[in-house]
Amino acid sequence: MRIAEGFVGAIGATPLLRLPSLSRASGCEILGKAEFMNPGGSVKDRAALYIVLDAERRGALSPGGTVVEGTAGNTGIGLAHICHARGYRCVIVIPETQTREKIDLLRTLGAEVHTVPAAPYSDPNNYQKVAQRMAAERDNAIWANQFDNPANREAHYATTGPELWEQTDGQLDAFVAATGTGGTLAGVARYLKEQRRDIRCVLADPTGSALYRYVKAGEPEVLGPGSITEGIGSSRVTANLEGTPIDDALQIDDQQAVTTVYRLLADEGLFLGSSSGINVAAALQVAEQLGPGHTIVTVLCDGGARYASRLFDREWLAGKGLAVP
Ligand code: PMP
Repeated sequence: MRIAEGFVGAIGATPLLRLPSLSRASGCEILGKAEFMNPGGSVKDRAALYIVLDAERRGALSPGGTVVEGTAGNTGIGLAHICHARGYRCVIVIPETQTREKIDLLRTLGAEVHTVPAAPYSDPNNYQKVAQRMAAERDNAIWANQFDNPANREAHYATTGPELWEQTDGQLDAFVAATGTGGTLAGVARYLKEQRRDIRCVLADPTGSALYRYVKAGEPEVLGPGSITEGIGSSRVTANLEGTPIDDALQIDDQQAVTTVYRLLADEGLFLGSSSGINVAAALQVAEQLGPGHTIVTVLCDGGARYASRLFDREWLAGKGLAVP
């Protein structure tokens, strides 16, 4: 029997998709892990589950408890589902700059949603700090702390990494991923490097993030203008990202991300969000660097519907100086 145990049992074991059109064009195998097919719709279902399971194991979360988190949306969406399935309340703090679609969905899912003005990490009113305070003020509540809680990285070390290794029979040359908390890249890169040191692990960074410089020069430093992408890019090296074996970084600008997202839809039939655009654009650059005949794996993080009012609105894009191919 192949029956999954409810929502939680359906997380992970996502397909690995060969992208035929982009593979043909690049002469490489371009493979995307279909994380948008998780039951909550994104790669963050895995981290949300491991964070909750870890809190349960430690005895920090008990029946009727509350999970509080600061999130750009996807972790919150995963948590909202998982909290219902396991009998917890869910409180979400989200910057008001995130798409209406994600904020509305969180409310529809029954989370208690607090939108806050965007503020830098150093500001006590930063959404992550607000979530931390809210958790401390409530009884029987935990702060999921996805950025610095290693249970996030562990999810990818224990599941995403081994899945990719098995799905490719160990025949991959590079793994490429943009990072928000760093959990995906940190967990997958660690696992893959333990199997074969020569698998190239590359961080894809949007403009306005500090991680490209961190990989290239050892110190995080914001480079370039802010990005329209959501859920990725960081001003700091999180505890999850710390110590990750990373070989190289690529900076991908918004126009490259937009062009790639539209290409994924028109040529591959895949309706994906902006971080998938960054990831696939970076995977194509790695393919060019390595030359024909290589296998490049990346992550298709979430679906395009979460960004319909921006990424798929030509007027909105034009207002940002971005052209649709
Ligand atoms: N893409 C999207 C759409 C996301 O929401 C996130 C997480 N915020 C990421 C990519 C990055 O994943 P991670 O946090 O594991 O680095």
